[in-house]
Amino acid sequence: MSTLLSRRAFLRGGVAAAGTVAASPVAKALPQDNTSEQLATLIDIQRCIGCESCVEACRDSNQTKFPNPAKPFPKMYPNRVPVEDWSEKQDVMDRLTPYNWLFIQSAYVDVNGEETELSIPRRCMHCTNPPCVKLCPWGAAQQLDNGISRIDADLCLGGSKCKNVCPWQIPQRQTGTGLYLDLLPSLAGNGVMYKCDRCHDRIAEGELPACIDACPEDVQTIGPRDEIIAEAHRIAADIDGYIYGEHENGGTNTIYVSPVPFEEINRAMEGGKGIPHLGAATNRMEAAENLALAMVIAPFAGLAAAAGKIVKHFKSGIDQGDANETK
Ligand code: SF4
Ligand code: SF4
Ligand code: SF4
Repeated sequence: MSTLLSRRAFLRGGVAAAGTVAASPVAKALPQDNTSEQLATLIDIQRCIGCESCVEACRDSNQTKFPNPAKPFPKMYPNRVPVEDWSEKQDVMDRLTPYNWLFIQSAYVDVNGEETELSIPRRCMHCTNPPCVKLCPWGAAQQLDNGISRIDADLCLGGSKCKNVCPWQIPQRQTGTGLYLDLLPSLAGNGVMYKCDRCHDRIAEGELPACIDACPEDVQTIGPRDEIIAEAHRIAADIDGYIYGEHENGGTNTIYVSPVPFEEINRAMEGGKGIPHLGAATNRMEAAENLALAMVIAPFAGLAAAAGKIVKHFKSGIDQGDANETK
C-alpha cells in the first residue's frame, strides 16, 4: 500500500480519523517508521503556482533556528573567511540565505508550443550520500537515519567546507554566531552555515514539513524513496516529462518532475550566488572516495601522479558546479 503523503492526503486522513477512532495524526501524517527509513520528497513542478506560501511557512516555522549574531564581529587573522552578514537583510526571499532556506525560482520555457512560466521550489536536495556531511571536518553536519541532512548550529565553525563540496552550494553562512566566538574568535571559522533541515523536528513528531503542510496545490509529496521514485516515473510517463534528483550527485532525496528537460530550465533561469542550478551534478563523494582510495593503494613512487590525476578530476567536478552557480 502506498504511504506517500501530500497535505491533502494528510487532511483527508485527519477527517477520516475524526469520524472513527481518535487515531493519532502521527500515523496519518507520515509512514509510521519515519526515523529509520530514507524519506524523499517529490516536487511536481507543473503544479506550482509560485504563491510562496511554502517560503513563508518555512520562515515562520524555523524562526527559532535562525541566527542572532553578536556585533561588532571579531576581526579575523588571517582574513581567509570573509564576513557574511544577512542579519540586516532577513527579508530577502529570492535566494538562499541563513534566514531563507527555501525560495521559488522561475523560468520561462516552451511547454507544448506556449511560453510558460515555471515556478520551482528550491532548497537542500538532501543527497543520499551527502558530501556536506561526509566531508565536514568537525562532524557538525550529520545525516539522520531517515536521510535528512542537517547542520548542528552548536558545532559548526562556519568554514564553509559543506558549501564548497555541495554541487549546488546550498549552505549559507552568517558571521558573528556559533562556537568560534567561544573558541578562537579571531582565528577559527567565521560563523555558522545554515540550510533546510527538512523540518526534522516536525517529522520526528509525525508532522509534515512546514512547506508541504502550507502548499495549497499539493506540489510536494513525501514518502519512502523507492515509492517517490516510482511515483516520479509514473508522472513523467504520463506527461512525457523529465526527472531530476534520481541520479544527480549519486542520487538525492528530492526528486523533481518537469514537463520540459531540466537543461532547458537551467538555461532559462537566472543564476548567481545563493541560487542553485538545475544542471548536471556529478557524484562528488565518488570522486572524494576515489581520492582516498588512491592515497592508500597507489605505489609510493606513483602516489603524487595518481593523486594529482584524481584531484584534477575532482576539481573539474567542483569547477563545473561553481560554473553552474555563477552562470
Ligand atoms: S544538496 Fe548540498 S547541502 Fe544538501 S545534502 Fe546535498 S551536498 Fe548537502
Ligand atoms: S522542509 Fe522545512 S526547513 Fe526545509 S524548506 Fe521545507 S519548511 Fe523549510
Ligand atoms: S506553496 Fe506550493 S504552489 Fe505555492 S509556491 Fe510553494 S510549492 Fe508552489
